[in-house]
Amino acid sequence: MKLYSTLSRQLEELPAPPGPIRMYFCGPTVYQRAHIGNARPFALGMWLRAWLRERGYDATFVHNITDVNDKIYDAAPGRSAELAAEATQWYLEDTGDLGLGMPDVVPLATEAVPSIVAFIEKLIAGGHAYEAGGDVYFSVSTDPGYGRLSRQKVENMEPEEQSSLKRAVQDFALWKATKPGEDTSWDSPWGKGRPGWHIECSAMAEDAFGPVFEIHGGGLDLVFPHHENELAQSLALGHDFARIWMHNGMLTRGGEKMSKSLGNDMTIRGVVDTWGREVALMLLLSGQWRKPLDFNQTTLEQARAQLETFRNVFRSPSEPVGDWAAFEAALDDDFNTPEALAVLHGWRDHELLRRAFRIFGLESIAEKEEAPAELVALAEQRVAARDAKDFAEADRLRGDIEAAGWSVRDVDGGFQLVPRA
Ligand SMILES: [Zn+2]
Repeated sequence: MKLYSTLSRQLEELPAPPGPIRMYFCGPTVYQRAHIGNARPFALGMWLRAWLRERGYDATFVHNITDVNDKIYDAAPGRSAELAAEATQWYLEDTGDLGLGMPDVVPLATEAVPSIVAFIEKLIAGGHAYEAGGDVYFSVSTDPGYGRLSRQKVENMEPEEQSSLKRAVQDFALWKATKPGEDTSWDSPWGKGRPGWHIECSAMAEDAFGPVFEIHGGGLDLVFPHHENELAQSLALGHDFARIWMHNGMLTRGGEKMSKSLGNDMTIRGVVDTWGREVALMLLLSGQWRKPLDFNQTTLEQARAQLETFRNVFRSPSEPVGDWAAFEAALDDDFNTPEALAVLHGWRDHELLRRAFRIFGLESIAEKEEAPAELVALAEQRVAARDAKDFAEADRLRGDIEAAGWSVRDVDGGFQLVPRA
């Protein structure tokens, strides 16, 4: 199986099964309901884990939560920890409702502070970091390969934040001294403070897997500075880090990147409540994970129509048509889910389809939807009206059933009620 890596800018072959394949994907900063863009790396990680296990791999998925951060302080002055705890629960509920199961470990940054402090101490001891006014900064000039992931020259990089305490403008914070208005802090050798963002992932990935693991993932917007800095910190301790870097394309809305700051976000909760989890998953599957994907009324409706096409296959008799090798080839080639869906559209074998949809958490497509009892009663009245040759009444009843969102089909020996797409 091959996956594209941002680090090498090419497809990388995975080791032979059983691996192991250890995956760490960056999760959200928690201060409000997560937007649907956060569902993409989550779903990608869960699907990839399911597929790797199907292929005989020992696959593990770790997905962290950033629960201490400037955004959280700004969102809830005086009660940042409470908001972070609440929003963590929202994220677990909302991603849980996607019906894909949960990652093996969901570590919290605030619970990793001892590992983070120990990591920073090693960086200082190795001459890669320095304390200044209660902050600690990573010294970028000690890493001759800095910029290796985002392929930028140091002098062209946009500095993350300004501080007179930094020796060089590109240096970045590993530890931040507590400032007025911040209501959480931890003791450290440098005084009270809290971890910087990038160091948490280096420390939590090492806690979960040891220093070296197979796949690091996250949104394309994390390449720089977040992942560039993670990589620099971890390499500075003298060992390798993640081998393959998977960066998923951004979700867009009307072509614009979807983000909270632009105010054009849709939440996972909102999409699942309005469209249902199956539509959300089908839309995510319909795009290759590296490419941008537009979430709008039209693409959501297309995903719903696609689900309906698959449901119709299950309403028809099963036929032994389906080629597992073609499905496997699509997913083994950089996890090409749109190609895999195209393969599935040619299948008529219910058992094989069920097996494939189970990987994507969509085996529910095969389930028969039960029509509400009152619609079944209307359909029965319609049969009676037709038998009595009262076609006007039969048409009226059909109209009532359709108005309720279902279609009635005449089949041998009776009727079938099918939800309207
Ligand atoms: Zn991260």
